[in-house]
Amino acid sequence: MSRDPRYDILFEPVKIGPVTTKNRFYQVPHCNGMGYRDATALATMRAIKAEGGWGVVCTEQVEIHPTGDIAPFIELRIWDDQDLPMLARIAEAVKVKGALAGLQLAHNSMNAPNLYSREIPLGPMDLPVYSYFSDPVQVRGMDKQDIRDFRKWHRDAALRAKRAGFDLIYVYAGKLFGLPMYFLSRRFNQRSDEYGGSLENRARFLKELIEDTKDAVGDSCAVPCRISVDEMVGEEGIHAAEAQDIIGHLAELPDLWDLTLSGWENDSQTSRFAEEGYQLPFIKGIKPLTSKPIVSVGRYTSPDLMVKLVRDGVIDLIGAARPSIADPFLPQKIAQGRIEDIRECIGCNMCVAGDFTMTPSRCTQNPSFGDEWRRGWHPEVIRPVETSARVLVVGAGPAGLEAAMMLGRRGAEVALAEQGEPGGRVMREARLPGLSAWKRVADYRLGQIQAAPGITLYRDSALTAEDILGFGFAHVAIATGSAWRKDGVGRRLLRPAPLGDADVLSPDELMAGQRPRHRNVVIYDDDHYYMGGVLAELLVREGFGVSVVTPAAEVSTWMRMTMEQLFVQHRLVNLGVRIVSHHHLVGADGSRVTYACGFTGRETVVDDCSLVTVTARLPHNGLARALAARRQDWAAAGLGSVTLIGDALAPGTIAAAVWAGRRYAEEFDPEQGPVAATMRREVTGLAQGPFYWDAATAAAK
Ligand code: ADP
Ligand code: SF4
Repeated sequence: MSRDPRYDILFEPVKIGPVTTKNRFYQVPHCNGMGYRDATALATMRAIKAEGGWGVVCTEQVEIHPTGDIAPFIELRIWDDQDLPMLARIAEAVKVKGALAGLQLAHNSMNAPNLYSREIPLGPMDLPVYSYFSDPVQVRGMDKQDIRDFRKWHRDAALRAKRAGFDLIYVYAGKLFGLPMYFLSRRFNQRSDEYGGSLENRARFLKELIEDTKDAVGDSCAVPCRISVDEMVGEEGIHAAEAQDIIGHLAELPDLWDLTLSGWENDSQTSRFAEEGYQLPFIKGIKPLTSKPIVSVGRYTSPDLMVKLVRDGVIDLIGAARPSIADPFLPQKIAQGRIEDIRECIGCNMCVAGDFTMTPSRCTQNPSFGDEWRRGWHPEVIRPVETSARVLVVGAGPAGLEAAMMLGRRGAEVALAEQGEPGGRVMREARLPGLSAWKRVADYRLGQIQAAPGITLYRDSALTAEDILGFGFAHVAIATGSAWRKDGVGRRLLRPAPLGDADVLSPDELMAGQRPRHRNVVIYDDDHYYMGGVLAELLVREGFGVSVVTPAAEVSTWMRMTMEQLFVQHRLVNLGVRIVSHHHLVGADGSRVTYACGFTGRETVVDDCSLVTVTARLPHNGLARALAARRQDWAAAGLGSVTLIGDALAPGTIAAAVWAGRRYAEEFDPEQGPVAATMRREVTGLAQGPFYWDAATAAAK
């Protein structure tokens, strides 16, 4: 297949200062939970994006100095030459695959509590750190000498980045992660010297850094500036009109403008709260202010929208973090006219959760993400089976769909049986408020399966152990999912709550269309991810009076990891949902629900009320158990292995179910069924030189 000429414009080269990108696909800097701890895994992940056709591939933020140490989060560092081999590996990996390599110099300033380095954080003013965990640390307001020192650190870091082989070296003034942004924002900068006050003064520090960086490396490296065009806090922070003034003031100074919103939660909003291209109103006025190219993100996965944005003169380069994670081969697929093969980001921010949990990021749509080097998984390609193999996959939810699709790609003959709607929980959950984009998990896989000659999808097929033993498949993957409990058992309650004859509904029942008998409903949420909040939204929009009772301090508390918690609580409060924190379910009877304070045990009784429990799920493992009970019949039936995968093994996230499906396909052996493979890991080399372990050696150091 060849490229649709409509998309030619996306494959035009663009000059960025002294370098030229081969096309307009630009992977902007993004975190990934790997950083300095998992350097080779990170290099391989970036290289695969370059292989997939991105013209520019950037690192995440790279700390320039121990005074900007964002521990416990794990990003990259360029503190001194010791960091260069790791960074050089990333640059080389990206360039070998034909992309330009970008590095984002960063000093996290007020966002960096310096828990690792123990240095005093630096910023425009004396203030508490603005960190995620409100650490008991204060920032020291920088004096003129500090500013001079800082400029030297930044310049030295830029020179090191050039030596490491990078083509683009960023000055970072965005998302409340970069020190110059704190100088730009009047709420953080109330200085009375020439670095505070007027816009020109507040922009002085950024201007100096861009000039320094261009002077240091600008002969051969491009110097982009990443800047936030709105802090979303009104006129106290940077806002659209002021951002235009700042960019107008520095218009021709950097080689590229990379535009973001601030903070990160506003820039990387999920599909539940923002549409594709939601940043557009904030960036539309910027292009006429500068002749330099502009890049901006917007969760863009539609090539038609990308073309429109370039043609309309809004942006020059299509910025992507999440779409490049969900499909590292997005540019290549557009180039090859394979639009239907694009694996579109669903906007769930599971990838962001990797950064917040300080573990290699995972992606709901792309299970190979973070496992490119560790497990040798590739987003597109999988090794063929050596001999012919026939596999039955039972259940076409995310786990079963992924297993079947990838086994098909390996060349196995696959039967996929589904009793209900293909797509499983994804289809049910995508009908809940705000979650419609999640359907893409099923759509992509069903599309691929339909086009794959070796895979047959059997609909309306509720299989029993007897059926399976009669089919003669050598290997069976059981991906039959799970069901929500409705007895209150979860984290807080470990035994069923006394629920008498109360009107109790589970999330499954609500998703199947059942509704509470009473107009008032208590949702008991001991799950803490999206389901409790989404069901509250569903019911309150239908006119029910809804209280969410949770043992946590806030609703959907785990969604801090996906940066959605604030948005969820904001929406629910606005819709009139009552949130009762630090309380747990005691029981229910008739039309009464009782819950108690987690600190005092004091009980509250609510009358005329139904109960919805969102606590835990039980795996649907009955089919696997029934087959295990007939172990003696396997040989005669030609059955060699039965493997539970996904929610049927242990209920988890959709991302975990997709990953489990991939793992089954990756580790599948035609003779033995799945064979567990080892995971590569990188172990830090031990330091050379003296170390101190007693008073005498310490005194002699
Ligand atoms: P996962 O997230 O692990 O993929 P889901 O609950 O989304 O799990 O999907 C499980 C799928 O398995 C559902 O679509 C369900 O209808 C199907 N299923 C469950 N039991 C059987 C069975 N015995 N035969 C065929 N399909 C089944
Ligand atoms: Fe998109 Fe979700 Fe994948 Fe992140 S985890 S890239 S938001 S699909």
